Amino acid sequence: MFADNSIKAVQSYLQQKLEKIYSVREIQIFSEMILDALFDLSKTDLILNTRKFSESELLQIRAVSKRLIKKEPIQHILGVAHFYGYDFKVNKDVLIPRPETEELVALVLENHKGGKLLDIGTGSGCIPITLKKENDAFDVWAIDISEDALGIASSNASESGAEINFIQSDILKDNLIDRYDIIISNPPYVLESDKKDMQESVLDFEPDLALFVPDDKALMFYERIASLAINSLQDSGYLYFEIHESFGQEAIQMLKEMGFQNIKLYQDLQGKDRIVSAQK
Ligand code: GLN
Repeated sequence: MFADNSIKAVQSYLQQKLEKIYSVREIQIFSEMILDALFDLSKTDLILNTRKFSESELLQIRAVSKRLIKKEPIQHILGVAHFYGYDFKVNKDVLIPRPETEELVALVLENHKGGKLLDIGTGSGCIPITLKKENDAFDVWAIDISEDALGIASSNASESGAEINFIQSDILKDNLIDRYDIIISNPPYVLESDKKDMQESVLDFEPDLALFVPDDKALMFYERIASLAINSLQDSGYLYFEIHESFGQEAIQMLKEMGFQNIKLYQDLQGKDRIVSAQK
C-alpha cells in the first residue's frame, strides 16, 4: 500500500508492485509516464516532490498498476504513445508507434522538401501526421484497410491540426487511383515463427493484422506495394519501406527485378537492416 500520499510514496508503491515483472529502469519510465499523463507532472515536479494525491487519485494509480501487472502496454492504459515529439492516441486497433519508424520519418524529412506523399497501412497515422507537422509543404494521403484504425488516425490528425486525406482500401486487392511523388509503407512484416521470441504485451494486446505475415510469404506486402508503386509513382518518384531485419537483401532483389533504381538499404540505431528506399 501507499506509505503516504506523496510522489515518493507513489514511486515506491509502483516499484514494489511491479518489480517481479519489470526492470527498475522500466518501472521508472512507467512512473514518469503515469504521473505525466494522469496528473500533468513534469520530471521537475517529481524532484520537487510537493504534490499530494487524493484518495481517488491513488486508486487511479493502483488501477494502472494492476493493468501493468497483466502486461497491458502502458500506451494502451494511458491511451497515448509518444512519437517524434508528438502524442498519438492508440488502442488495440493500431500498432503502437515504434522508435525505428521515427528513423523512417527522419529519413524522408531529410531527403524531401515537399511533394505528394502516400502512406500505406497508416495505423495510428503516426507517419503521415508527423511528416505533415514537420513540413507543411507535403500533400499527404494515407491508406488503411481497417475502419477502426482510420478512426484513430483521423482523430489523431484533427487533434494535432494536420490536414491528411485518409482512404479506406485493401491494397492487396484494390489499385491506387492517384499518382504520388513519394510512397511510404511500414506493412506487416513479423513472421509467424517470430512469435515465440515476442513479448506478451505485443502478442496479447497489439493487432495481428498490423504485425504478422506467414513464414512462406514474408514479402507479400512489399511485392504488392512495389508493383502498385511502379505504376503510381511519378517518374523518378521514391518508395520507402520499413523492413524486417532479415529481409534486406531479398527486398533489394525484388525491387531490382521490378525495375526500381537507386536502391538503398539503411540500418536502424541498433545496427539492424530496417529501411529500404528506391526510385522509379
Ligand atoms: N517493428 C515492429 C515490431 O517488431 C513490427 C512492425 C511491422 O510489422 N510493421 O513489433
